[in-house]
Amino acid sequence: LPFKDLTVKSAADLRRIFDEGLILEDSERIITFRLKTFQALIDRLVSLSGSNIAKVLFHQLGNEVGQAGMRYSKDQIQSENDLGPVLDNVLKNRGWGTCLGIDVKKQNNKQIFVATMHNCPLCFGLKSSEPQCDFVRGIVSGWIEGYMARKASIDSTETECVATGGKNCIFEISYME
Ligand SMILES: [Zn+2]
Repeated sequence: LPFKDLTVKSAADLRRIFDEGLILEDSERIITFRLKTFQALIDRLVSLSGSNIAKVLFHQLGNEVGQAGMRYSKDQIQSENDLGPVLDNVLKNRGWGTCLGIDVKKQNNKQIFVATMHNCPLCFGLKSSEPQCDFVRGIVSGWIEGYMARKASIDSTETECVATGGKNCIFEISYME
């Protein structure tokens, strides 16, 4: 099989063991809560810590999620071209929306990874004057950093957000060359 065919994996097997209070994805235990509950939890943290600290915290938490995802997906990734499709598959399996692509562009002395996300759960149903998706920004940066095996050298940014009227949420992760 060509490699691309291997990355198109159908949904993981989900199984409830109701009496034990367990949900298994293949053999891994997962937990679930409603998206609205997750968004309420995020709101609570923003109101407790202020939006500047919350921005850093969510980015760091998401970054750990992205790095963890890369750790268990690394064997599916042969080149930069696989970064988007494999992330897309991970997100789809987990209900975190889709990754429409991760493009790499060169600009001045920078290498910029541009990730386009659709149905991002952070800003789902929200309206705002500023991008809202620091957790997903962290996931994307952790994903790229895990692949590159080094930290991005420039702060990542969300250049377009559905909450501010964009069609998708778009994130840039940049490295000085
Ligand atoms: Zn967004």
